[in-house]
Amino acid sequence: MSYVDEVLELVKKKNASEPEFLQAVDEVLNSLRPVIEKNEEKYRKEALLERLTEPERQIKFRVPWVDDKGQVQVNTGYRIQFNSAIGPYKGGLRLHPSVNTGIIKFLGFEQIFKNSLTGLPIGGGKGGSDFDPKGKSDREVMAFCQSFMTELYKYIGADTDVPAGDIGTGAREIGYMYGQYKRITGLYEGVLTGKGLSYGGSLARTEATGYGLLYLTDEMLKSNGKDIKGKTVVVSGAGNVAIYAIQKAQQLGAKPVTCSDSTGWIYDPDGIDVALLKEVKEVKRARLTEYKAARPNAEYHEGKGVWTVKCDIALPCATQNELDIEDAKTLVANGCFAVAEGANMPTTLEATKYLQQNKVLFAPGKAANAGGVATSALEMSQNSERLSWTFEEVDAKLKNIMVNIFRNLDDAAKRYGVEGDYVAGANIAGFEKVVNAMEAQGIV
Ligand code: NDP
Repeated sequence: MSYVDEVLELVKKKNASEPEFLQAVDEVLNSLRPVIEKNEEKYRKEALLERLTEPERQIKFRVPWVDDKGQVQVNTGYRIQFNSAIGPYKGGLRLHPSVNTGIIKFLGFEQIFKNSLTGLPIGGGKGGSDFDPKGKSDREVMAFCQSFMTELYKYIGADTDVPAGDIGTGAREIGYMYGQYKRITGLYEGVLTGKGLSYGGSLARTEATGYGLLYLTDEMLKSNGKDIKGKTVVVSGAGNVAIYAIQKAQQLGAKPVTCSDSTGWIYDPDGIDVALLKEVKEVKRARLTEYKAARPNAEYHEGKGVWTVKCDIALPCATQNELDIEDAKTLVANGCFAVAEGANMPTTLEATKYLQQNKVLFAPGKAANAGGVATSALEMSQNSERLSWTFEEVDAKLKNIMVNIFRNLDDAAKRYGVEGDYVAGANIAGFEKVVNAMEAQGIV
């Protein structure tokens, strides 16, 4: 049996109840076959893949807090410090009822390669809780965030582990967590990213993931002789990533016509009104029915459905496994020629294969959405030098990073004879740097 198959079997046995983690490992290890096969004996002896798929540390803790009725609530907190070979752990905190060990592990594992692809010195980690900020008062969110940080602070620091936002963790939550960290430790340091501008945040961090997604998509299209101008774009999600992806797509001359949230979706044939979407989602924290109410030409539908809209480019920006094989078939039948993942693992393995087999340009999330973490690393640099860069400086660095990511993964795919397979290219390019550092640092 090949070394990859041996490790896949072992990982399946050890993590049987974590389907999302198994899915992520399956995708990465399968696409790394050409690299592993070249060094099979050496890697087996070093147990390199066993070490790569086992987190350095997993922390799970109780988060008790008091709601507005005086009732004590208990949530579970997580921080998984997956791999620190190339830098301090870095990765977001997800606050969503679906959070469990397997979800955080899949995100942490993906983060290792994503962070490596940015070219910046950051290791892989992820955390969060099954707490749902939706429908909670500001005081309840603060009570939760303070309790969460009262435990988490023991394990993080500007040079050890630097969490950030993710689903459910925006500027408000980061602010409350930062305040509590500072209160307990007395340290005013860059321990979290995605901070407000008045206390160490970086300009362009809010926009970074969505903008970065479009910079990479644009580069991928150019390198395949296509132009983004005038193209119809279908986007899922209506959160941080989706909003700024829609905005940058418009700036580049494309026309995004959809967005969605966990209850329904919008088709706006005139193009999404970003200012209105921001008002509904960022300010009012309301449902998309409010968007429809203000735009008579737009359609609102309950449930899932953005992938049924005819488009040239699809950008899944909501959550994992939101684009399945049936959606992939519909996209191909409708003439979609590029899919770039703004969310983490939004496309199922079967759908990814189908898209690739049908010659759809496919940019995986670990490359396409790396702009967020890259700009978080730029926030860390600014905190360390106690300086703030201008929006234009950060945006220019972000663009440069995204273009380089695409070139590196394109090059890696070509070097291993899988030209055009950007999933393999991203995994190989991310893997090479991490493995080099792991081997240099010995058995740790
Ligand atoms: P937000 O919480 O800001 O937005 C998430 C959006 O997706 C919301 O519109 C939400 O709907 C919708 N959504 C969430 N869960 C589900 C679900 N189970 N089913 C249907 N819709 C859902 O998160 P972000 O925009 O920050 O993150 C989106 C994705 O991008 C995630 O996969 C995240 O890991 C990834 N990502 C984010 C980065 C960042 O910088 N923010 C960086 C890299 C990756 P509703 O409004 O109803 O809650």
